Amino acid sequence: GTLSIAAILADTARRTPDAPALHFMGATLHYGELWDQTRAYAGALAARGVGRGSRVAMLVPNVPDFPRVYYAALALGAVIVPIHLLFKADEIVFVLEDSEAELLVAAAPLLAEAAPAAARTGTPLVSVLAPEGLEVGGRPLPRLEAEAAQADPIERYASVNPLDAATILYTSGTTGTPKGAVGSHLAMVEQVNVSLIDSFPMFPEDVVYGGLPFFHSFGQMAVLNVAFRRGASIILLPKFDPDDALELLNRHGGTVFTAVPTNFAGLVEAAGRNPARPPLRFAVSGGAALPVALLEAFEAAFGAQVHEGYGLTETAPSATFNKAGEPIRPGTVGTPIWGVDVAAADAETEDRIVLLAPGELGEIVIRGHNLMKGYLGRPDATAAAVVDGWFRSGDLGTVTADHVVTIVDRKKDMIIRNGYNVYPSEVEAVLARHPAVSIGAVFGVPHDTHGQEVHAAVVPARGREVDAAEVVAFMKEKVAAYKYPRVVHVVEALPLGASGKVLKRELVQRFTP
Ligand code: ATP
Repeated sequence: GTLSIAAILADTARRTPDAPALHFMGATLHYGELWDQTRAYAGALAARGVGRGSRVAMLVPNVPDFPRVYYAALALGAVIVPIHLLFKADEIVFVLEDSEAELLVAAAPLLAEAAPAAARTGTPLVSVLAPEGLEVGGRPLPRLEAEAAQADPIERYASVNPLDAATILYTSGTTGTPKGAVGSHLAMVEQVNVSLIDSFPMFPEDVVYGGLPFFHSFGQMAVLNVAFRRGASIILLPKFDPDDALELLNRHGGTVFTAVPTNFAGLVEAAGRNPARPPLRFAVSGGAALPVALLEAFEAAFGAQVHEGYGLTETAPSATFNKAGEPIRPGTVGTPIWGVDVAAADAETEDRIVLLAPGELGEIVIRGHNLMKGYLGRPDATAAAVVDGWFRSGDLGTVTADHVVTIVDRKKDMIIRNGYNVYPSEVEAVLARHPAVSIGAVFGVPHDTHGQEVHAAVVPARGREVDAAEVVAFMKEKVAAYKYPRVVHVVEALPLGASGKVLKRELVQRFTP
């Protein structure tokens, strides 16, 4: 059968060729021309031998070449392996080898890491956005643009089996070696056509913020594929800067803001400096817990409702959402997406799944059409993660009898102080209520007598000064004695990964004496 993710662009281009697809650096690209360029890219990739089942690695930021390369490879039935934009040569080597990529497509600004990695693994390299005549290792660098100009564009996308692999997405490896989660066309099409569109309806008139990196499942699915499926347009932003983001949303009449919580904090701060407001209809948050105080600050500044969802790369990614048409419950991640089961299970029982009674705290487990096919080449890791058909998320939370899911925190981020469990996310939600705090992160630092001590790093709100001792006193009054941060570090910014999530490991390292 044919059920390809490539249909998302091809079909919208056929229906509305003259509708805007991308806004980038002052120009607008329309669906028809974008699909024509994509067909030409596909022709060039086919001439390089890319076909059904080939693995094509790509190291491309959020520029028009991302969708061109992505849908071109998918249209040939190839499997996309997007690489984390911050990866260094060694990490790129790992992904190229682990995925057995046949080709690496890299954007010129990322060649410093990409070219040595390609050379070391013997992976053919082709660039986008490189100037003509650039040499790498004494040889002219191939340019996909030039090859596409010579190639025969493909006419239509290839037929694939719905369960064929479409993407291999590497988890960023907080838990050790990165693992490649293999996603099928079916899981992705279902995620887009059913789950995401159910959760937050989008329309062709929508103008969607495109700052979440597309190499990551959240940006790829909840921004790129959903917006293109619905024929909406995307404002591309290769790197998040809150003032630029607000300025671009204003300039293009942005109606949808899909982002991670740190971006929400940034936009609220930017709103204090810039009184102009875009015509936002709604916002979508995911990837990390959104403190209720931040949700409220955002809704007050922008007059747009926030739909918070939850999921993982392994679940395509969304598993739950505060959906349109259902009550929005701030502080929860809503209810399971259509056709998917979410439950809390005993976190200690590893070999089987023991479901808990409604409301009991346990490990969140997920079962349904959104699950990955498995971790590439790692049957043991797959067997440990997927037990009795349930995927173990590594997150702790609760599920009520009416299916409302609350995430308490990641198992691995839990702090144990004097034998008491402290969930950073809960403490962070309280920190966000402090008027002088824009956003804070709570983490455990090794401690001789307590095992771990609770620390917080806080970013001051615009124009405010934070008195660390005063924040400690504020927190002491608001949460139980074992939970409040004994040490508060005032920082200019939190260390963020490319997807905008806070890198807690770096905070722990930095503040471990
Ligand atoms: P790694 O690849 O290192 O595992 P990661 O854990 O951030 O990085 P992702 O798949 O990007 O990998 O993110 C999934 C995780 O993000 C979830 O396991 C959960 O801890 C967190 N998360 C996602 N959405 C939410 C949410 N709404 N509330 C709380 N946590 C969330």
